[in-house]
Amino acid sequence: MLLPFPSTTTEPSGLTTQTILSQLSRDEFIDIACKLILRSRKKSANSHHHKYLVGATTYTQNEEHKTYLSLANKILKNLRRAGYTSHDTVGDGNPTVHGEFRALYRMPGNVLLGCNTPLCGNCMKSAIMRGVEAIFLDADSMPGAKDENDEVNPWTQERADLWNDLCLPLARAAQIPIYVVDPEKKKVSILVTGLPPDQRPKPQHPVEILTPAELQAYQQDPKHFLDKENNVRRVIARARSVETGEYFYLHAQDSYPPGFDEIEGTRMTEKFKDAHYHFTLDPVIHIAMVAAQHGMKLENGKILANFIPSSGRQLDLAYVGIEELYYTENHVPESQDVRHAMQTLSKHNAIHYESLPLYQGFQKILNGHTLPENEHTP
Ligand SMILES: [Zn+2]
Repeated sequence: MLLPFPSTTTEPSGLTTQTILSQLSRDEFIDIACKLILRSRKKSANSHHHKYLVGATTYTQNEEHKTYLSLANKILKNLRRAGYTSHDTVGDGNPTVHGEFRALYRMPGNVLLGCNTPLCGNCMKSAIMRGVEAIFLDADSMPGAKDENDEVNPWTQERADLWNDLCLPLARAAQIPIYVVDPEKKKVSILVTGLPPDQRPKPQHPVEILTPAELQAYQQDPKHFLDKENNVRRVIARARSVETGEYFYLHAQDSYPPGFDEIEGTRMTEKFKDAHYHFTLDPVIHIAMVAAQHGMKLENGKILANFIPSSGRQLDLAYVGIEELYYTENHVPESQDVRHAMQTLSKHNAIHYESLPLYQGFQKILNGHTLPENEHTP
């Protein structure tokens, strides 16, 4: 049997941050674990998918409320209206936004994540970037409980390989605990051991919340930060606190996931190169997850990237309400899949893409937010 994390964790500043898990008794922990799975199972029936019926649930609590949010795999609204189904493709996948991503973006603060089936590689990375305290999976859906002939959430060989070679190593390296839950027997067992969020390894390049001085430096010499120097993908976006309405500027760049150094990161990048898959953390998803963690939402029209995200991540961006995406000039999307997604999403008014000279792009995201005059001439 498992034990929740130690009762408190202390930050270097001396402040004490309480995790959800540290506040739960053993019985409460088991109760919440079971509810995460039961709610996810129920919600999975609403999935817009013919085979992968996925329901995901996030949980958070404060002194007054215990809050669950359950969401399923959904086809992006604009595409659904245009008649798209999960048998169609947009870029390198079908047009669904995964339930895990939806539930992680929409629930602010510290969260636990439950799912009725193990996460795909992208959702595992989203959970890691989001800093979830723990992941809970349905015992009925684990490899071995299902095989490739199952009609719902089957384990194909490809899926099993990705789970074993990518998802589990990601969780282990990031020290995110994974529990397997059998709600009928009220039994919870540990699949991957982990640490509380503040004691885990950090990603190679964490998302930065920029100070006014740093923001000014970007504005004065944006090329330095946003040019495609060494093929590093970068993004700057404005996010707004849901509670106070305050603006923040966030910067993210390509980063190996937490726990992967240059050698291991390079090895994994090579290994998954042919799988339509970037091993590094996608900068746009990274800022979306960190914004959610801090109770912020990304602002439409306030995102500037030096790359076009993969087709699946473009769907995610459209889902989080980014209808305008600016990218730096002279950027040619690297793959047919990425271009196909851009054409589809722009045709159905989901995302409007605009290529801009760097300085102008920067002005667009700063628009309405005054910074001191600078000497830069475009
Ligand atoms: Zn997924």
